[in-house]
Amino acid sequence: MTEKLYLMDHCCRDFDAIVVSVADGKFVVLDKTAFYPQGGGQPSDTGRLAAESGEEFKVVFVKKFPDSVSHEVDKPGLAAGMRVKGIVDWDRRYRHMRMHTAAHIIHGVIFSELGLLVSGNQLGWPQSRIDINIENFDREKFAKIEKKCNETIAKNLEISFRFISKDEALGNLDYFRLMGVDRHQLIDRLGDEIRIVKIGDFDESIDGGTHVRNTREIGKIKFVRFENKGAANRRIYFELTD
Ligand SMILES: [Zn+2]
Repeated sequence: MTEKLYLMDHCCRDFDAIVVSVADGKFVVLDKTAFYPQGGGQPSDTGRLAAESGEEFKVVFVKKFPDSVSHEVDKPGLAAGMRVKGIVDWDRRYRHMRMHTAAHIIHGVIFSELGLLVSGNQLGWPQSRIDINIENFDREKFAKIEKKCNETIAKNLEISFRFISKDEALGNLDYFRLMGVDRHQLIDRLGDEIRIVKIGDFDESIDGGTHVRNTREIGKIKFVRFENKGAANRRIYFELTD
């Protein structure tokens, strides 16, 4: 089982690890990792693994499996037992952290203002998107939501994490912010890693992504574009400004 440093320490950008296995010359499992694997709408981290010889291997993609996290590197050369230093491409990761916390703020405001859950999201840079099911879309309403989001950010709320039990997770429906998710399936899949992300006293939800430490790091949320994706499905594109 790979120890997932990224779950509790979002600011860990380099770490020492031991290679546990290598498949096909380029899929590397380490005993621990700070590389975030693609998931929950957040793209995988990239970066590099440096061997003791000084040779460096580019990490181009990271994927999570039930018992491990696999790092795809650009060339063969690593083998089980080798010691490596992992270095996360921090600019890319930090942008995704800002976007991820911003997305939770938007989810939270849409939930408190409209009583709606989001049906999906995809984080990226410079633009991310959120899908919601809403019958009567109204621009003014969304201008208000954008304003509320930025008021929430301006409160400089601290973000914290804790792991909870399966029973606690299933006992609180508010922890689930994505529409159409089978809660039991999700909880079973997470096993011992059911983590709550808490944004001040504003929002708590089950989440495996990486986040900034304080909402002030987000900057400002700007809704840049809306798109119709079917009868009631609206897609909101947003960007962050400093
Ligand atoms: Zn999330």
